[in-house]
Amino acid sequence: MHRNFEKLQKRSHRHLLLSLIVDIYLSRVLLARLFFCVNPQSFYRVWEMAMNRIDSESGGQSLAWVDERERLLLAPYAMFSADSRGRTHQEPHHAYRGPFQRDRDRILHSSAYRRLSGKMQVFTGEMGDYHRTRLTHTHEVATIARTLGRVLKLNEDLIEALALMHDIGHPPYGHAGEDALDECIADIGGFSHNQFGLTIVQEIEIRFHDFPGLNLTYESLMGQTCRVDKELKGQKPLLEVQLVDAADSTTYDAHDADDAIKLGLVSIEDMKHLELVDECLHFVKRHYSSLNPELLRKALVHRLIERQVTCLLSHCQEELRKYDFKSVEEARSSEFVIGLPAEIAQQKQQLEQYLYEHVYRHPSLIKIREQAQARVKEMYITYCENPSLFPLKYQPRAERVGVRRMAVEYIAGMTDHFFEQTYKNAHS
Ligand code: MG
Repeated sequence: MHRNFEKLQKRSHRHLLLSLIVDIYLSRVLLARLFFCVNPQSFYRVWEMAMNRIDSESGGQSLAWVDERERLLLAPYAMFSADSRGRTHQEPHHAYRGPFQRDRDRILHSSAYRRLSGKMQVFTGEMGDYHRTRLTHTHEVATIARTLGRVLKLNEDLIEALALMHDIGHPPYGHAGEDALDECIADIGGFSHNQFGLTIVQEIEIRFHDFPGLNLTYESLMGQTCRVDKELKGQKPLLEVQLVDAADSTTYDAHDADDAIKLGLVSIEDMKHLELVDECLHFVKRHYSSLNPELLRKALVHRLIERQVTCLLSHCQEELRKYDFKSVEEARSSEFVIGLPAEIAQQKQQLEQYLYEHVYRHPSLIKIREQAQARVKEMYITYCENPSLFPLKYQPRAERVGVRRMAVEYIAGMTDHFFEQTYKNAHS
């Protein structure tokens, strides 16, 4: 009798617990339904955030982890991820990637970035297997910029994003192609690869369902905007932006000299009178008794980069110590600029002038350059006269920006090889 009573008591406890669980479940469903009826958009937003929390596994919805790491490694004048002004279209934070890391990844995965592998750095008419392309140039810039950024304790993630983006708007045939396209639409604002880079990441690349572009952070976009307008009033670039600019010129001075020597456009002997080259050659010869021509060229290029990077770092470290900036704003409102000390800057300018006159304007390249520009202009006219030649997905943009600008943008997006094929098909 007593045992039966205990059994009944246990069963009724179980029923009570079960009915309590069912009650709680039903009341939550009712509340959720009520919330959805009152404000469906907020309901979906909460749901999306909950799902994101599950998807990101670690459950982080804040930048705490990234911020903690940056506070340990970066200087007070660096751009901290937590201080970013965010994105045009708000997104939840990622659990283990900071905002500038995400910018970098979005650029890296864009199709415009991949096409840089088919665009020549210095236009020579032939895509040699060993010469720099826009992609390898970009990698070299990013590598040098990260080295500089790490020593100066700046934000390497932002630096890398800026470096990977900086040449994304280059058209086929290098600056020759850019000049031709600029002439085509000079009366409606012209064309520049820096501006087109910004257009690509803001309007042309498609990554999201609801809006165009990569939805990069304000800081990454402003970095590219500073490249478009170097005199941007009241908007002195972040130190990270200045640093990528310095890394860009250090990189192309060295590798353009390397490619030019290798292509036989100039020789080391021709360049010996340049102060920077002379100093580097003396350094190489002091350390290596005899080198064959190939190793001498490589050692010279290595020293050219090393010399500029070392001079820039020691100069900037000394200046930064003197200024002792406590914030990004202090650094931006000061006279300090990331760059070389005056003497080396002057030597570098001498080298750049030489490369301009003897490599970029080399007599053997002039004819190839002119032919390429004529073809670019011909294709521009072909597209303007036959807008139906644009792929279907570009038709809405052609209506929005006009056929002439669309023709320029479509050509600018092509690789050297794709342009040649398209030209042949159009004129066969
Ligand atoms: Mg560049």
